[in-house]
Amino acid sequence: MTRKRNKPHRQILSSVIALTAVAFAFPPAAWARDEIVGTQGSEVYHTRDCVHARRISDTRRVKFASEDDAIRAGRRKCKTCARLEETTPLRGAPQSKPAEPVASRPAASPPATQSQPTSSPSTQRATGRVVEVIDARTFRIGGVSEKVRLIGVVSPGADCPLGAAAKRYVEELALGREVVLEDDPANAKQAHMDRSGRRLAYVRVLNGDDVGAALIGAGHGWPDSQRFDRRQTYAEAEKSARAARRGLWSPLPSPSGATLVQRTAKGVTYHPQGCTHLRRTAEPLTLTVNEAREAGCRPCSLWCEP
Ligand SMILES: [Zn+2]
Ligand SMILES: [Zn+2]
Repeated sequence: MTRKRNKPHRQILSSVIALTAVAFAFPPAAWARDEIVGTQGSEVYHTRDCVHARRISDTRRVKFASEDDAIRAGRRKCKTCARLEETTPLRGAPQSKPAEPVASRPAASPPATQSQPTSSPSTQRATGRVVEVIDARTFRIGGVSEKVRLIGVVSPGADCPLGAAAKRYVEELALGREVVLEDDPANAKQAHMDRSGRRLAYVRVLNGDDVGAALIGAGHGWPDSQRFDRRQTYAEAEKSARAARRGLWSPLPSPSGATLVQRTAKGVTYHPQGCTHLRRTAEPLTLTVNEAREAGCRPCSLWCEP
């Protein structure tokens, strides 16, 4: 009797062992631990490789470009991931911090020109004319079938005033002009795509500006927290835009400048009052948008005021 019962038990045990062995032999490399993922059809998204995120099968795993994308898709953050976020550093924070000392160090190497990559050279993939600027970082380029998205840049969405200004800036810079698309070697493993399968590239106006660096330098965007080769150049562009109070960093005239916004104690983002991003923040700080700009805070994706 006991032996009969033991047998299936042993079988289960051995399959557990086998599965564990498989898990160790093939670590869950299909998604990086800092990606925003969720299960197909679920209402939750994960920001960390929590126990639930690990259980999502490859076929049912959906990825989001950002938390905001996931929120816009009607999802809420996994509670386990929210707890993990409290105990481990914020996404992107460790990457963007080291740029500061490097940027403020006295120049030991010859200064790079604006459109030069700072590390490994980018590969030229295509040239074409910009036929449409969809938003400040998304273009249609003649001869290129898919939409092209700038790598390394975050800029407000074009349907709000800040994004509309950014779009106008890029239209003046690049619309109708011949541009060169350059792949980022740092993104080669992802086949030069973002998580939603969009084509990512640096876009440089022929014989002219790197559009991403120019956009950030004009104060219409900031460096992305994802990995990309031109981070140092882009971080320097943001620094100079902040110092010169261009675009997003310029104080607004009253009464717009006195609009109240909210932020977390450590956050570098300001939000509209009562923003959904802050629903887990016990006591968000309230300040005016001009104070937030002065402090170098960036608007959250749901900010739709000047
Ligand atoms: Zn989770
Ligand atoms: Zn927000």
